[in-house]
Amino acid sequence: MAEGVTGEKIWLDGEWVDWQDGHVHLLTHTLHYGLGVFEGIRCYKAEDGRSAIFQLGPHVHRLFTSAHINLLEIPFSEEQVGQAIREVLPANHLDEGYIRPLVFIGSGSMGLNPADNPIRVAVMAWSWGAYLGDEGVQNGIRAKVSTFSRHHVNAKMTKGKTCGDYVNSILAKREALLDGYDEAIMLDTAGLVSEASGENIFLVKGERLYTPPLPTVLDGITRNAVIEIARDKGIEVAETPLTRDELYIADELFLTGTAAEVTPIREVDHRRIGSGTRGPITKLLQTAFFDIVAGRDAKYERWLSYL
Ligand SMILES: *Cc1c(COP(=O)(O)O)cnc(C)c1O
Repeated sequence: MAEGVTGEKIWLDGEWVDWQDGHVHLLTHTLHYGLGVFEGIRCYKAEDGRSAIFQLGPHVHRLFTSAHINLLEIPFSEEQVGQAIREVLPANHLDEGYIRPLVFIGSGSMGLNPADNPIRVAVMAWSWGAYLGDEGVQNGIRAKVSTFSRHHVNAKMTKGKTCGDYVNSILAKREALLDGYDEAIMLDTAGLVSEASGENIFLVKGERLYTPPLPTVLDGITRNAVIEIARDKGIEVAETPLTRDELYIADELFLTGTAAEVTPIREVDHRRIGSGTRGPITKLLQTAFFDIVAGRDAKYERWLSYL
């Protein structure tokens, strides 16, 4: 994110407020204990000049399932939150950008039973370029297997985008950056490959695509899109457990996520991956993805919600 992200309007609890009035009280429960949920959504300026939100329905639905997992009852309908998401870019005079819905627990009880505290909802948006850099998108990033494990599925759960879970991701990401890498790849508590700090991971080996199965990873919307695009192109995809050394000997590796889109990995733990740059299957899928979000592929128009 650019430093000092700024904007004009924020949707807060059903109303549009000025950006500078988007405040919460210090006793906001989520601020203390991290129980809240969020989404990350991208809206692209399509080739014809219109703005298109990628996978709006699945993102709104996942916000509600994340809340459900965490016993948070959102006081708005999926339609109402979806409508705020559709309106937030125009409200900020943006035609493309990143949209961040956030559900959090307001002030009230400060104990660990916030059952009677208000559940609050905000929708924000800002401009956000390539999360791992344009150079990373083109030529690949360098990743490190983190010393931090992905959460055990019964220590926290993996199917929600829960605010506090990202402490683990931030520790891994910062460790990777401080050690001179671009991103962290996390293993699960059994030692198998899980995902990156905020992206799912894919491996290419001999024309086939592999990705870790769902139990320890977030059910990424970009992950699902890439699986569908690959299968449509006749590439076989297997959701299968992967080991750290299978990453080292992959032909290609790449990450997927709303923020990271499709970003190749050219090196893991000082081992060159494949040819050491973006591989051909990664390029094929990445190109297909960018064509789809730019509205250039009628076959996947159903994934776009035009504003
Ligand atoms: C958001 C996220 C992803 C990517 O999911 P998308 O739905 O593709 O944006 C992957 N892993 C984690 C841990 C995430 O938080």
